[in-house]
Amino acid sequence: MSPSILLVAETIDNQISPTSAELSGLAERLAATAPDRAIFLVPGSDIDEQARTFAAWTGRPVLVAKSPAFRYPNPELLADAVVALAGETAFDYICFLHTAAGCQAAAGTAAGTGAACVSGVSGLRAADDNIIFQRSLFNGKLAMEIKVETRPVVLTALPGAFDGKLPGLEPAARPDITVRAIDDASVAYQPLAISTADDTDAAIDKADIIIAAGRGIGSQENLALVHRLARLFPNAAVAASRPLCDLKWLPYSRQVGATGKTVSPKLYLACGISGAQQHLYGMKDAQWIVAVNTDPRAAIFSVADFCIVADVTTFLPILADLYEQKKGQP
Ligand code: FAD
Repeated sequence: MSPSILLVAETIDNQISPTSAELSGLAERLAATAPDRAIFLVPGSDIDEQARTFAAWTGRPVLVAKSPAFRYPNPELLADAVVALAGETAFDYICFLHTAAGCQAAAGTAAGTGAACVSGVSGLRAADDNIIFQRSLFNGKLAMEIKVETRPVVLTALPGAFDGKLPGLEPAARPDITVRAIDDASVAYQPLAISTADDTDAAIDKADIIIAAGRGIGSQENLALVHRLARLFPNAAVAASRPLCDLKWLPYSRQVGATGKTVSPKLYLACGISGAQQHLYGMKDAQWIVAVNTDPRAAIFSVADFCIVADVTTFLPILADLYEQKKGQP
């Protein structure tokens, strides 16, 4: 029989994240040959219209989990709501996005249902009446396959790993949508407000050349090497992996990846970046990728057109000096 699947959409301020549609692609893969029996759960406080459009576009039934507490992501309440739903319906798979809120809600759901939890799923294959889940470890250096014998299985899907194409047409079908009120009286977790980061910095969206720094750059002072190189090229910008933005060495508007920006410049020079799936998601469509890393087995080399095994702090000044010399020549 085709599997029963719950797909938990990610919402914030009553907007459904476009990445949520990728869960629909995951459901198709989980069902393999038979048509899947998948429904979306859409949490929100005032989201019925959005949910109706989403149901029409994805062609899947939508259950709206309605509560004032769902205006902002509330993984604790979401896990409670999903656990209650799983008590009524025997789901085979309960799927979240692999985001901070998705991972938190998935963990709560797995604990509440006693289910196995497979996080960061980037692929899957069918084998002997079961599904083998694929994920990477150690920032993409190792690949792992996981089989789970029990049901339900709670999954978090890596953004970008599954097909999330929506037709982009006016909704045609009669959308199948149900609204359920969720009691939030007992939940302790209460997000108070969301503030939006200043995203007026469009430098990396429009750049032809991106010089991106990762943790391998070593120190905030060494970022000067990256800035120097960027200044040498026309329409170039400096970007970063997430740890550097977390350290506040560069603003989040410069973060590339699943929870940052998606870029497709002509040239992406990755300096001391390991190549974790979450980073690759944001830059793998660059025309040319050049990676500099001291570790010859770094995962970034699997997507790079040119692989340079070197210390960035040695390589970048040499590259900048040579380029300046060339420019200076008649
Ligand atoms: P590391 O993984 O620490 O890699 C540093 C690399 O530098 C290593 O390969 C090392 O060999 C190399 N190195 C060290 N010294 C030198 C040197 N002197 N010269 C040259 N190379 C050197 N990450 C993102 O980037 N973007 C995202 O949007 C993002 N979203 C995420 C979302 C979620 C839900 C989660 C869980 C994680 C996310 N991450 C994201 C984090 C991601 O998983 C990785 O942890 C991160 O990308 C690693 O950054 P890094 O490559 O700079 O650092």
